[in-house]
Amino acid sequence: MVNENDINSIAVVGAGTMGKEIAQVALMAGFEKVYLNDINKETLNSAINIIRNNLLKLEKKGKLNNGITTEDLMKKLKATLELSKVVSRAELVIEAIPEKMELKQALFKKLGELTPKSTILASNTSTMSISEIASSSGKEDKVVGMHFFIPVVVLRLIEVIKGKKTSDEVFETSIKVAKRFPSLKGKRYVARIEKETPGFIVNRLTIATSLYLSWLLDHASENGIEIEKIDNDVAKSPELGPYAKWDYLGLDVVCNALNYFNKTVSEEFRPGKVLTKLVNEGKLGKKTGEGLYKWVEGKPIRKTEERANLFDINLYYAIQLNEGCRLLGEGVVKNYKVIDDTMLAGMDMPGPFSAGKRNYEKWTKLLEQFSKQSNLTYILPCELMRTGKFLQMKK
Ligand code: NAD
Repeated sequence: MVNENDINSIAVVGAGTMGKEIAQVALMAGFEKVYLNDINKETLNSAINIIRNNLLKLEKKGKLNNGITTEDLMKKLKATLELSKVVSRAELVIEAIPEKMELKQALFKKLGELTPKSTILASNTSTMSISEIASSSGKEDKVVGMHFFIPVVVLRLIEVIKGKKTSDEVFETSIKVAKRFPSLKGKRYVARIEKETPGFIVNRLTIATSLYLSWLLDHASENGIEIEKIDNDVAKSPELGPYAKWDYLGLDVVCNALNYFNKTVSEEFRPGKVLTKLVNEGKLGKKTGEGLYKWVEGKPIRKTEERANLFDINLYYAIQLNEGCRLLGEGVVKNYKVIDDTMLAGMDMPGPFSAGKRNYEKWTKLLEQFSKQSNLTYILPCELMRTGKFLQMKK
């Protein structure tokens, strides 16, 4: 029996992009001890420095709880390369290692052996099955998904996902614990995801739109249209358009997500020609200095403000509405308000249902036309969208 009040120590395994942010926010949440582990010594040392600097900045701005200093919080952080030390003393372990099933399963096997029976094991996977990750742990009832969004300290959303064998008690406790993590944008919003599905809510909807982006990328390349102009259709500098965001995220990360969807959702998600070529050439975006853009000092080099007038924002939202309707149909969430609230809290953009309520008939035609043009059948509207029956699933 694990109660949220029994959770005083947290261990974060993997101190990369996500792990160090999760550890920082766990410190800010007031947990008594936060353990941090990585297999790489340099990563671990750099994570400690980054956490301290981030906390100092927040302290200067008066954003830490009254009277609490960075040094108070840093005393609670214990970073070590020794996994057994870290996980045997924590009541909740959050895994944030790379998005590769075999790595996560190997780690969860060890976690099952090294942790007391009651310890909850959470995975920060962005897309993958919690049940598959849990299968090696020997305690599948204690494994849950806890999906944070970057920047963790700013964005309000955490998706908590129930695996096939996660106990009700572990699911409920994990939701309550997730609510304790503060966020600068306001009250933490925890999305209850009752049934696992690839990509959960936010990534399920956004990766579905990648079908359109990937097709448009190849179409632009075949027709000599500059990708930057398509980004200009959507966003004005310094905001990043969708392709600059792919570069920012890492084209390998985008490709891995598409490959996972290709295996688990539809084979039409296989990465397109341009994306595959860039990844094979090691041009992964911001982190390698070149991807769809060249990157200098953390920023994409922009050459034009011209637009391509190609990107159709209605089509983008129509794809999201269709995917949201699929989630309703599969029983992943109970109502569409959860999907809209989740998109707003995690992506800072409106979900597809608020506008979709008025536009679903028009958007249905748009999807049918695009399916003909692109030969993508996955894009075709599902029954809940086409018939407008989703309207009865607001609450
Ligand atoms: P990352 O590559 O930045 O960091 C992963 C870290 O894990 C590395 O420092 C690596 O040394 C360490 N590691 C690898 N194997 C380990 C092991 N067995 N034990 C301990 N440490 C180990 O990756 P990331 O971007 O932080 O992603 C981590 C997870 O979070 C992934 O599942 C990813 O899908 C998910 N996620 C990422 C983002 C994002 O925007 N980066 C957002 C949400 C979720």
